[in-house]
Amino acid sequence: MSKQTVLDIKELSKVYKSEQQQVEALKGISFQLYQGEMVAVMGTSGSGKSTLLNILGALDEPTTGSIKVNGKYSKEMFQEPQASLYRRDNIGFIFQSFHLLKDLTVEENIALPLILKGVTQELITTKVNQVMELIGLTEWKSHRPVQLSGGQQQRVAIGRAIITEPPIILADEPTGNLDFNTSVDILTALVDTKTRLKQSILLVTHDPHVATYADRVLFFHDGCIVDEYECNAHNDLEYILEKFKLITKRQVI
Ligand code: ADP
Ligand code: MG
Repeated sequence: MSKQTVLDIKELSKVYKSEQQQVEALKGISFQLYQGEMVAVMGTSGSGKSTLLNILGALDEPTTGSIKVNGKYSKEMFQEPQASLYRRDNIGFIFQSFHLLKDLTVEENIALPLILKGVTQELITTKVNQVMELIGLTEWKSHRPVQLSGGQQQRVAIGRAIITEPPIILADEPTGNLDFNTSVDILTALVDTKTRLKQSILLVTHDPHVATYADRVLFFHDGCIVDEYECNAHNDLEYILEKFKLITKRQVI
């Protein structure tokens, strides 16, 4: 069976301009994201990872280049209201710092994207209960974020990202603030929901262990993709670690 392309990214570049300086954060990035795969984006700090994720989530506009979504190209993708609609229908975001609303309970935080979509209260209740069961937070539904551990807060963020069953999840260092065991739990939960919902996940990380959970790794350096690796569960960690060391030392790859 041939792979279905969800995102087709061509020659994406991003230049941040200010009066004092000009930063070329992305220098002509091209790759495809297929349905049902998790791709890790690995690179050192400042290599352009968050810039890429922000553009793919239509939170920011590229300077040049194009993105086809499910085979279709829309010139207005980065303009409102199209950008909001694109996000609503396609994207779930997960951030390192959780980004939960502190005055809302666990179930209210998870329900938020459905409330914004304007679906019925009955459907919201059903879906929220399903998602809370899936991420193991049913007992905590009336708690507020401050009463939860970091791992539990990230689970809430995952719940909120998957409640509308978006085809694409964009995760920026989702385990960056978590300890090793909690990270393993979160990554397992992500792989599990990806498989259930046939989602595509783009996972930004600088942790080689996290990258081993992906199907494919794109190595970033200085705004470019400098290498790509298909994970096959054989010495993945060793390979990724070695490759990443080379990149951080800025050696020729
Ligand atoms: P990463 O996520 O890999 O650490 P970023 O995408 O955040 O990298 O940043 C890439 C480069 O672009 C860095 O040099 C950073 O300083 C710069 N940059 C990021 N966001 C902005 C911005 N809003 N304005 C100006 N420069 C930015
Ligand atoms: Mg970043």
